[in-house]
Amino acid sequence: MSFPPNLRPFPAQALSGASLARSLAADFATRDAPERLGVLRDRAGGPLVFTTSFGLEDQVLTHLIAKAGISVRFATLDTGRMFAETYALWAETESRYGIRVQGFYPDTAAVEQLVERQGIDGFYDGRPQREACCGVRKVEPLDRALRGAFVWITGLRGEQSAARLGMAFVSHDPARDLIKANPLFDWSRDRIAALAKEQNIPINPLHRRGFLSIGCAPCTRAVEPGEPERAGRWWWEDETLKECGLHVAPGGNLVRGGPPA
Ligand code: SF4
Repeated sequence: MSFPPNLRPFPAQALSGASLARSLAADFATRDAPERLGVLRDRAGGPLVFTTSFGLEDQVLTHLIAKAGISVRFATLDTGRMFAETYALWAETESRYGIRVQGFYPDTAAVEQLVERQGIDGFYDGRPQREACCGVRKVEPLDRALRGAFVWITGLRGEQSAARLGMAFVSHDPARDLIKANPLFDWSRDRIAALAKEQNIPINPLHRRGFLSIGCAPCTRAVEPGEPERAGRWWWEDETLKECGLHVAPGGNLVRGGPPA
């Protein structure tokens, strides 16, 4: 895998990951999303990787990154269980922005063993089975997608769930030893949707059918008006425990950053 070489050195390279995250978070706190991307462009001393799942936030962030013209590697986790609409949007996004979104896939043997052990839809049987599936289809490929990254950019927003509200603009991910940056962290869904409409950003047609948060097809349903955004994800589980492991530490705790300085 190759990374763009045109990134300037991070001036505070000697800072620890946590200190670095606090410094960037302070910069983020006084700026809006496009300028935050500029901060990453100007201050990052290593590869930037943006993991997209082609949701509303990720599409807006793709648009902003493309407009900013910064060198970012786009990556997605193709679990093999995604909606057909998501694959179509993947192709449309590449065409619209002239980018390649690199797909990361589950290990074949691991999927075969998973399906042998718990069945093709075993994730409905309990949280351990669901976490096992997310582990094979998402978490392990994510680790590969982020290998060599200095900054991991996500479309995560604080108001998506109570758990995510406890995260920060920028944090240090100690497990992966990288900086995790969330440029849209303080944006509302309405603001994101308004920009998508104004800029004619391609979005998943499932959003118009009540799918606010879109993941794998068998684990996502439309939500009713007034339901929380992520109520349609793993709807058979306890609301407070619904994360797929992409934003949690190995021990199961949410990866949180320190407060903005
Ligand atoms: Fe498996 Fe569902 Fe997790 Fe997708 S969201 S990896 S299908 S458990």
